[in-house]
Amino acid sequence: MALINENYFKLKAGYLFPEIGKRVREFAEKNPEKKIIRMGIGDVTLPLSPSVVKAFRDAVDEMGRKESFRGYGPEQGYAFLREAIAVNEYQNRGINIPADDIFVSDGSKCDTGNIQEIFGNENVVAICDPIYPVYADTTVMAGKTGECGPNGYFSGIVYMPCTENNNFVPDLPKEKVDLIFLCYPNNPMGTVATKKELARWVKYATDNRAIILFDAAYEAFISDPSIPRSIYEIEGAEKVAIEFRSFSKTAGFTGVRCAYTVIPSTLVAYDTQGKSHPVKPLWARRHSTKFNGVSYPVQRAAEAVYSEQGKRETKEIIAYYMENAAIMKRELAAAGFKAFGGENAPYVWAKTKNNMKSWDFFDKLLKEAGVVGTPGSGFGPSGEGYFRFSAFADRTDVIEAMGKIKALFK
Ligand SMILES: *Cc1c(COP(=O)(O)O)cnc(C)c1O
Repeated sequence: MALINENYFKLKAGYLFPEIGKRVREFAEKNPEKKIIRMGIGDVTLPLSPSVVKAFRDAVDEMGRKESFRGYGPEQGYAFLREAIAVNEYQNRGINIPADDIFVSDGSKCDTGNIQEIFGNENVVAICDPIYPVYADTTVMAGKTGECGPNGYFSGIVYMPCTENNNFVPDLPKEKVDLIFLCYPNNPMGTVATKKELARWVKYATDNRAIILFDAAYEAFISDPSIPRSIYEIEGAEKVAIEFRSFSKTAGFTGVRCAYTVIPSTLVAYDTQGKSHPVKPLWARRHSTKFNGVSYPVQRAAEAVYSEQGKRETKEIIAYYMENAAIMKRELAAAGFKAFGGENAPYVWAKTKNNMKSWDFFDKLLKEAGVVGTPGSGFGPSGEGYFRFSAFADRTDVIEAMGKIKALFK
């Protein structure tokens, strides 16, 4: 008898985005004449930059010629890309991360989920609320939790509310936790963590022999030089943190697929006897057993992000999205909303009016303004009463959507 992994039954039925898609589809079918402006799903809208496309295309041509054809590449990623990442993302910013500590992959979603596998199920996992749903769902799939309670929390996970009161950076947990997911700049809240706030977490991890799983998918959107772009800007983090980065939002690779995970050689975890072991060899073993590398043209395309032209183009793309975010934030404030984030991240997190529930606000916005956003409650119970607007949109759409929202709520 084939037994199923029953942990999957614990998951809440709908993932957030299919539910949004369903409601939008139903509305569109009933109102075919109404224009719908989508600012809901966090997917990029601008095309790949010319330097990326050229490198991509040239590499495809190489693959089509006998003398430059390549088969399987190194599982950890080609040295040319890992070197470019190490130099441009870390060493040039005074962070000592060698290329050998970088693992190239096909996405941070996969990496943040797969990382669970090299850590035992006895670990207590701490997750922010609200947050990107992947961390909690993959913790459930791995079997590290009990059932989901009526409050929307899975037993066995330590949830850390992120609210206006704590500036959207969680307080240290009262109970002892072992694996801590942090995501800054934050999805969905668009907020950032200061050096001091992250230093508190690094100290907690050091004192408790815990590990921070730091998702920095949006680091490229940080413009404030005082805000850390990497957890390794914090002293001691190389002993207690894994960092996840992605080309998805930075360079428009959501449909191309390239990301990387940093596991410093100095990072250790413990066996049940309390003996320490480096984590990196375990991830290397997993990666080379279950993954055969990102395609060569994709890695060449990612490398091109670090060419002089590539850097300029990427900067322009990010500036475009961040101008959208600035417009959204300004107009939402003008419409009387309390709005957060959007300064160092491509999301604006707005409090709904009159304590309206997130999904009610979603329906009102869709039906009366034709604007699609993301209900905050879909990211966790503490997101109830909030709404996420994504800056990944066309400028004219942003302006039109904000005009409609202003007209509706002013
Ligand atoms: C978009 C996003 C990612 C990137 O995922 P990929 O699989 O690399 O496309 C990672 N973390 C968060 C929080 C995100 O929003």
